[in-house]
Amino acid sequence: MDTAADHSGQRPYRGRFAPTPSGPLHLGSLITALASFLAARHAGGRWLLRIDDIDGPRCRPEHADTILHQLDCHGLHWDEAVRYQSGHEAAYQAAFEQLRQSGACYRCTCTRARLAASSPAGIDGPIYPGTCRDAGHQQPDAAWRLRLPAGRIWLDDPLHGRIERDLRHEMGDFVIRRADGRIGYQLASVIDEQQQGITHLVRGADLIGSSLRQKYLMQHLGHAVPAFLHIPVLLDHNGNKLSKQNHAAPLQTETAAQNLIRGLHLLGQAPFAAAWHGRVDEILARAIRDWDPARIPKQLHLPA
Ligand SMILES: [Zn+2]
Repeated sequence: MDTAADHSGQRPYRGRFAPTPSGPLHLGSLITALASFLAARHAGGRWLLRIDDIDGPRCRPEHADTILHQLDCHGLHWDEAVRYQSGHEAAYQAAFEQLRQSGACYRCTCTRARLAASSPAGIDGPIYPGTCRDAGHQQPDAAWRLRLPAGRIWLDDPLHGRIERDLRHEMGDFVIRRADGRIGYQLASVIDEQQQGITHLVRGADLIGSSLRQKYLMQHLGHAVPAFLHIPVLLDHNGNKLSKQNHAAPLQTETAAQNLIRGLHLLGQAPFAAAWHGRVDEILARAIRDWDPARIPKQLHLPA
């Protein structure tokens, strides 16, 4: 299965991994990093690292340093300088200003409680019902939402097929600048992908809703849209997503080779993995050569 032709035209392959530095990497995040790394290297492309550190107090510089060290020990060496979102606030604000001046967004003064009471649950989370769309609010400390037209958005994913949503009824106007003045994750990411020339987004399936929103924004801003591949989320023994919030164990760098083998095995990439022992660079060289996203299982479960 080859995703290289999707959307990206003739641009040379550029992928990226963009962790939030709210804690060290765990097996679930290793799998996402590994998949995006292998896809990029298999295609002969570049693989960039971005630290998504604008999401407030959960982000800590020491976690970012730990993540860099963990990736390095696992042989996942990135190209070019690491990009920190916190260093690009001016570019995000400029993009917001352009959207604001074109009338593409509006102020939303809904409180958390009001949003919870008024937003129906959707496939990708709560759907904003458009409460403030035509209210003409002028409060300076309000959030700003992108005004979505009637219509549909879709993306093609090699694992999931075509994923499609109704913009207003299944997605809803989303926040591009928060009430505290910070730029929202969707807009910041879209500016990053464009400035870094990213052609392929390999990420967790828990971000499908974000991918659809970002694709809409990219098209609205006239940016090239990358190809998408969503890796199933790794579930623990209880069927919960392995995450920092669930206290997933940090990756131990001393067992990097075993961690890689385990990750490859979970990704369906390594028939050899169970019985194979090698150095990190040997394991990765073989995995790059043999990378095939068609072998990724529909669900990723930690063995009991
Ligand atoms: Zn509102």
